[in-house]
Amino acid sequence: MGRRAGAVAPVVLSLAVGAGLVVALAVPAHRAACFGLMLVTLDGLGAVYGLRAARHRARLTWRLAAVGRALSIVCTAGLAVNAYNGNDPAWYVGVCAGLGMFVCLAGASLSVSARKLEGRAFWAFAAETHAVFNGAFMLVWYFAVHPTLTGVPSSLWLQLIGYPLGNLLLAVSVFTVLLRGGVTRLGDPVTIFLGGVLFYAIADTLWASIGARGEHAQHSPAVVVGLSAASLVMTVAAMRADAAGSGHRRSAPVAAQAPSWTAYLPYVSVAAGNTLMLVGTIQGQEFTLWGGLVLAQTAIIAALLVRQVISLRDTRELTVTDTLTGLANLAGLRAGLARATARRERTGMLIVDLDDFKQVNDRYGHDTGNVVLIEVARTLRAHIRSADVAARVGGDEYAVLLTGVEEQADATGVAARILAAFATGPVRVGADNIPVRASVGVAITDPDEDPQELQHRADLAMYEAKRAGKHLWKLYEPSMIDRRARDGQLADRLEDALQAGQLQVLYQPLVNLTDGRPVGAEALVRWTHPQLGPVSPMEFIPVAERTGVIIRLGLWVLEEACKQVRAWQLRSPGTAIYASVNVSPRQLQEPTLVADVLAVLSRTGLPAGDLVLEITESAIVDEHAAVPALASLREHGVRIAVDDFGTGYSSLQYLTRLPVDVLKIDRSFVSQLDSTPEGAAVVEAVIRLSQVLRLRTVAEGIETPAQATELQLLGCTHGQGYLFARPLPAAELHEMMSTAAIRG
Ligand code: C2E
Ligand code: MG
Ligand code: MG
Repeated sequence: MGRRAGAVAPVVLSLAVGAGLVVALAVPAHRAACFGLMLVTLDGLGAVYGLRAARHRARLTWRLAAVGRALSIVCTAGLAVNAYNGNDPAWYVGVCAGLGMFVCLAGASLSVSARKLEGRAFWAFAAETHAVFNGAFMLVWYFAVHPTLTGVPSSLWLQLIGYPLGNLLLAVSVFTVLLRGGVTRLGDPVTIFLGGVLFYAIADTLWASIGARGEHAQHSPAVVVGLSAASLVMTVAAMRADAAGSGHRRSAPVAAQAPSWTAYLPYVSVAAGNTLMLVGTIQGQEFTLWGGLVLAQTAIIAALLVRQVISLRDTRELTVTDTLTGLANLAGLRAGLARATARRERTGMLIVDLDDFKQVNDRYGHDTGNVVLIEVARTLRAHIRSADVAARVGGDEYAVLLTGVEEQADATGVAARILAAFATGPVRVGADNIPVRASVGVAITDPDEDPQELQHRADLAMYEAKRAGKHLWKLYEPSMIDRRARDGQLADRLEDALQAGQLQVLYQPLVNLTDGRPVGAEALVRWTHPQLGPVSPMEFIPVAERTGVIIRLGLWVLEEACKQVRAWQLRSPGTAIYASVNVSPRQLQEPTLVADVLAVLSRTGLPAGDLVLEITESAIVDEHAAVPALASLREHGVRIAVDDFGTGYSSLQYLTRLPVDVLKIDRSFVSQLDSTPEGAAVVEAVIRLSQVLRLRTVAEGIETPAQATELQLLGCTHGQGYLFARPLPAAELHEMMSTAAIRG
């Protein structure tokens, strides 16, 4: 209710002022009276609303504005009384109140919160303000002071010189706030107020210049319209500040930097002053003496201005550009975000973080690393439109700001295309082919959401993408929380977990679906921390990968599993059972992997043919390191399984080229089995594919007898899942296996 009234009142007032102006312009006889009445009314309302606005925020600004408006009423009244009956004291009161008004309005403008300046920034600001002041002073001198000094009796100088100087004060105060970044949003009440003050200074200078020629300025239509409108703008600003305050809207924050156009204000001021000099010289018929000098000086100043503007642009460019890649830097990204916010567009952001970039630097050196970073920048640029902004915001972290995003797919599509481009084109440096992998977080914000949140959200999504595996994108969801702190904590504690015996290996049987006999056991690690309690491998394996602990941890699990399975084999001769052990992508990068595995086999006595290593798809496509190691292990008889098949890399082509023996169908596909052709589509396709390639299929996550039956019908021979057994301690599984078949 209050908010609506707050929105309607300015409109009603503007209409009333418009009507008043029509009357004032149409009936010259009543113009002065009508004008005076309007000014007094507007000042009155301005004072009242100013005081009301001061209750909420920007107290000093609105209070000083209110006092200024009240003084303006006294001024109008005093001058009106003097005009009516020639009363001299009334004239003095009016003029002094007018001068007081200038001081108060200037004070109000200067009190608008703006950046604090120190050191060099302060002196640069002082020089700019100085230039603006002197440009404005030249205008005042030419239009008001000079005509007054030469043509008006000195008794009137208090007003005729005092007012123009007051206006100068107003103009400079407003520019001062602008130069200090006090104006960020155009619709903000404070911005409107500053606009009104500036407008007032201009209209009143016009008044002064007319008055200095001895004419009655209050009859000039331009003065009447200009001053009424300026007064109206200031009043509306106070009304809006009051309405916004009662609605608890946020006031505009102080900009970290003044808007870029304000940097040009001193130049505009110098140019205006010089133009005046030129005009004055020509008009004053002193061209023969001063013409050449002024002309040449104007030319010099023009050249210097051009030079200044060029270096200003250069400096700006430097501060927003990443020198290595030529993309924007963090400041450039922020500026792009601010522009998009001002346009009230729906914006998207991608955070692109390279996977394992440290290894590129370590293995190939920093120069090669830099080439990779430059190539990544080129790829990013090739996949965005010219209005979008690509930036490098950290060593191997990039951000892409997408403007005018209409739907989610616009943003996620760009992420997918960028990843595909990386996957198909390794960076060639000399004889080396360096694969580029990245994790991408995607976030999209609506115009009224806080754009600062955008980067944070994209960053959270990126972290989730990193945790979920390598080389994929994730879209931000509100349920995503920042797991970094917890992961950091886990990383610290994981170091000691191995020594402290907090880790345990559980075994889940892999069964033959036709007769339910166990044929193997998958080793699944568990961590029970004394304070944190049980920690899921989904949580700590990604942490272990990042810190590198996975190398020791993985070997320990391998050794435990091989020892255990060998023990089972020896205890019940005749039962063929193999060990299935997960190997993380990070382990595949390890040059000693083959030797380490063979050493474990020889230490434990497990035949190589009874070991299956489970590897995720994304690890296997990084051909550079993984393939030779896997091929070599296979030559020794170890079998390779692709774990979670179907969830990672989307190209199937690699299956025909890579050294694999088993496909483990991911449980997300098994859970879709519902006896319909649609539900079975993926599973069926995987089974056909592996039949052609002569691979064994193992279905993961079988939970119901119906799923087991359907899998069998589709031709799947092996499986694992809660239906048969959960991951169990070795002793429990042994007992279960002694009863021969494990029936679901
Ligand atoms: P994975 O290799 O795909 O292992 C299968 C996961 O599915 C296990 O989760 C298992 O408990 C669970 N599971 C088995 N049957 C069912 C079922 O019927 N229904 C459902 N809903 N889940 C089932 P777990 O033990 O939490 O392990 C999660 C992942 O952590 C593993 O996925 C593997 O990627 C990783 N992981 C576990 N141990 C190791 C390890 O020693 N080394 C490495 N590198 N990764 C490991
Ligand atoms: Mg597995
Ligand atoms: Mg799996």
